[in-house]
Amino acid sequence: MFTISLIPAFKDNYIWLLTLGQRAAVVDPGDPAPVIARLESAGLVLESILITHHHADHQGGIAALAERWQPTVFAPGSESITGCTSPLSGGETISVLGQAVSVMAVPGHTLGHLAYYAPGVLFCGDTLFGAGCGRLFEGTPAQMADSLDKIAGLPDETQIYCAHEYTEANLRFAQAVEPENLQIRARVQRVAEMRSAGKSSVPSSLAEEKATNPFLRCVELPVIEAALSRDAAVDRSKTAVFAAIRGWRNVF
Ligand code: ZN
Ligand code: FE
Repeated sequence: MFTISLIPAFKDNYIWLLTLGQRAAVVDPGDPAPVIARLESAGLVLESILITHHHADHQGGIAALAERWQPTVFAPGSESITGCTSPLSGGETISVLGQAVSVMAVPGHTLGHLAYYAPGVLFCGDTLFGAGCGRLFEGTPAQMADSLDKIAGLPDETQIYCAHEYTEANLRFAQAVEPENLQIRARVQRVAEMRSAGKSSVPSSLAEEKATNPFLRCVELPVIEAALSRDAAVDRSKTAVFAAIRGWRNVF
């Protein structure tokens, strides 16, 4: 199994670097410069690029990296991705540095959005974030709620490697949704300490997200009541609660 490390990019993007000896793969290299610098300084050979979705902050580095290393580029086949060599739609198993990786279709943030799962780790792009989830740029609330359900079905110990450091802001919203949730309160404290020490709050475990992420908690009574307090017309279905909470997040 590969080792995972972090390459920060832009203001709050995380590019995940996977290595096995001198072999490397990267997930969502939006900016080529920090990736090239890291690969060169460590003498790594880039074999694979994994892309979750088409936004520029996730795919912008492909061309420069492909020119230099000719990696296999795995990406959503239904989206416009520069230099994709292995178009995917979800349901496939691919080999990344010799490791079998399952491809999951997780539409919502974009329609072709993919997540990549290897035992114990999930690379989920802009679908699930620390204490939050991606905006619905292309998909419907029902699609995103289904995608989050798929992720919630993975083992609890799965480490969630998302693509942005948004956890602190997301936790402020989570507290507004569930002011009495003690696990959210404890996580606010933990994340504040990590961030002030200059550490990433990513990855988190799926168990931690299930306990503190309002978008994975749409069947919990306090979250249903919070949705109803915003919009009395919300029926109690998971999708309607999700839609109400996601809409609230957009204006929070
Ligand atoms: Zn995005
Ligand atoms: Fe993004």
